[in-house]
Amino acid sequence: HIPVIAIDGPTASGKGTVAARVAEALGWSVLDSGALYRLSALAATRRGVADTDEQALADIARQLDVRFLSDKVLLDNDDVTEQLRQEHIGDMASRIAPLQPLRDALLERQRAFRQAPGLVCDGRDMGTVVFPDAPLKIFLIADVDARAQRRYNQLIEKGFSANLGDLSKDLQARDDRDQNRLVAPLKPADDAVVVDSSNLDVDQTVERILAHWRN
Ligand code: C5P
Repeated sequence: HIPVIAIDGPTASGKGTVAARVAEALGWSVLDSGALYRLSALAATRRGVADTDEQALADIARQLDVRFLSDKVLLDNDDVTEQLRQEHIGDMASRIAPLQPLRDALLERQRAFRQAPGLVCDGRDMGTVVFPDAPLKIFLIADVDARAQRRYNQLIEKGFSANLGDLSKDLQARDDRDQNRLVAPLKPADDAVVVDSSNLDVDQTVERILAHWRN
């Protein structure tokens, strides 16, 4: 069976960066599942579909014309790498993510990323719903101040403007929404290992996860 390392956790816990680095270290492929929710949000915006139209959103998710290249993401052949990271897209993604038809539409697409020799994936429900048989499940957390600071640094680095207080409030609002929704709520799988990265840098976090994998 093709192994999967599932990394779940709240917004801006560093999952994406860490998942990519773990995948690189092992020579495995990587899935940023949040990107699929963000792409659905972006495609809906472009087509003028409301964030409440369940069936139209599910159709959009099923038909997404997306290509993940090594350094960019293409939607309808258009480079949307930067747009996907914008806060309003992340916000809309978290508002449409509770819709079950949309989640169902993305399920098989996510499972198709499981290819030899292995897959590292990150999201909210990788260990609980998408890959419940993953041999290693990590629940990556960090306190909200550490996460707001990281998100702030990322945005500034990319030339966007940002406000630390606003980011912290947005993160907490998104955490609340992801944890309290009825469908696929954010929570550790029963067999997940909790890793707190508040006081760890990326290298240390990656090393910790690789150590769990080797054991
Ligand atoms: O991880 P990221 O911030 O890119 O995800 C955007 C939103 O998509 C999250 O706030 C969450 O609501 C949703 N999401 C989800 N399940 C996943 C990944 C993301 O519901 N596996």
